[in-house]
Amino acid sequence: MQITAEIPYRTPIAPSTPSLPARSSTALPGRASRATRVAASHQTTLNEAITCVGTGLHSGAQVRMTLHPAEAGHGIVFRRTDCGDTPLIPALYDHVVDTRLSTVIAHPDAPSIRVATIEHLMAALHANRVDNALIDIDGPETPVLDGSAAEFDFLLQCAGSRVLDAPRAVIEILRHVVVEEANGAFAELRPARSGLALAMSIDFDASVIGQQRHAMPLTPERFRQEVSFCRTFVDRQEIEALRKIGLARGGSLDNAIVVDGDGVLNPCGLRHPKEFVRHKLMDAVGDLYLAGHTLQAGFMGHKSGHGLNNRLLRAVFASQENWRLVGTDRAAAQTLAVSA
Ligand SMILES: [Zn+2]
Repeated sequence: MQITAEIPYRTPIAPSTPSLPARSSTALPGRASRATRVAASHQTTLNEAITCVGTGLHSGAQVRMTLHPAEAGHGIVFRRTDCGDTPLIPALYDHVVDTRLSTVIAHPDAPSIRVATIEHLMAALHANRVDNALIDIDGPETPVLDGSAAEFDFLLQCAGSRVLDAPRAVIEILRHVVVEEANGAFAELRPARSGLALAMSIDFDASVIGQQRHAMPLTPERFRQEVSFCRTFVDRQEIEALRKIGLARGGSLDNAIVVDGDGVLNPCGLRHPKEFVRHKLMDAVGDLYLAGHTLQAGFMGHKSGHGLNNRLLRAVFASQENWRLVGTDRAAAQTLAVSA
């Protein structure tokens, strides 16, 4: 199946049924069924491979990307298919080589072979609880599609998910860890009893953005309904400067909000009045998944972007006292030990 950017983000879709054990007919309303518990505690992958084609936001290059199922313990791994026999690039925080405008990863042995703008796809994978996938891509950047995570979310639902016979590892945050910048921006993780909850706030001079805040727990439903459709944004005055340094070549009103003071240039306007902060929260969902596993934690960011999000993960993994791996087997623990 091939998905292109022409598919509207509001396209109604019937999610594929995951290959879960049969749901018990005697399950009590309001209590997790055995199938739900199995899905939450076991690793998953895609049920089948799926492809999309589109333009890279910054490179302007046309790219083809295929997401393949992968075995338990594989993790989320990218492979550049246009660079010959090149090493795989795991989507891990310590493989991040640039965070100026997007999250860019590369393998340490081949730093020039990169995959840029992975955060929206990583957000959709995180929210859909896809633990394992091999992502083939024939260019330097993921397709931007409509500038949000909605079409990646759509893609994952089309592919469906498969539960694997291996426990899911979760990174439990044990201590408060915070990173900050001189302008008041910060990002922090705190211990939490269960799951991952996120809060993000921003403060922009442009009056159409101003001060915005959004908070939510990370579930597939909340992600889909509240942040997945929120697009990336850029100030109109920044576009020329970005193009002069070779960025934003693929940008257009079809894949980014262009802010102009008290309004936006996009003819259809905003998808939500708080689309800006919700997009930043969605970016954090993607960036945090570069921990290698989902987190049991509370995340809060203020004016936090890819750089601070990545610094936060590096600060967490700088001390073994900040975190522990739970619900894992030896293989998953070894995977993390290599990256930390
Ligand atoms: Zn983004």
